[in-house]
Amino acid sequence: MSRLLYFTKDQIETINQAIILAEELISDHFKISFSEWKRYRYDIKTLEALKPEEITEEAFAQIIKYVCNPEKKLRGSLHTDYYKICLQDHVILKALEREKKMPLYPLAAYIVTHELIHVVRFSKFLQSFLVSAEEQEKEEALVHTLTYELLQGVKIPQLSYVLDIYVHCRNMETFRTAD
Ligand SMILES: [Zn+2]
Repeated sequence: MSRLLYFTKDQIETINQAIILAEELISDHFKISFSEWKRYRYDIKTLEALKPEEITEEAFAQIIKYVCNPEKKLRGSLHTDYYKICLQDHVILKALEREKKMPLYPLAAYIVTHELIHVVRFSKFLQSFLVSAEEQEKEEALVHTLTYELLQGVKIPQLSYVLDIYVHCRNMETFRTAD
């Protein structure tokens, strides 16, 4: 693995802004309250908080499904799975280097919104986690479309540029289940 590049403190702040935006958009669209939901069902972490097996060179993110101990199941909750969205700083930074006129914020907004849509759809059982390559391709196209729809009305400099480039991106994320 090549040398890993980490987000700076300012870049982490930008990622956090993108997370706030994505949660708002998705909360509206899927009618869910994120304040409750996020405490138990998912986390979004950057490279510094990742274990070696959570790091990849192949995509902007890796979604890892952890099956929680049923004993710890929340009262009233139907399922116990937890998803860790592992952002790959080094891959995202490399894309910024390639696309000089693309700032981090619109790209981060696209990636985080896209990954959260996956997680919401898994959690709502609209989609299974491990499926055939063909089904995965269909789901990926659908998630790209939803990402586009949710973000297209948002006013962020260079966002339309990012939407045009990434709406068909094949390397958004990889999926794994925790061992
Ligand atoms: Zn995806």
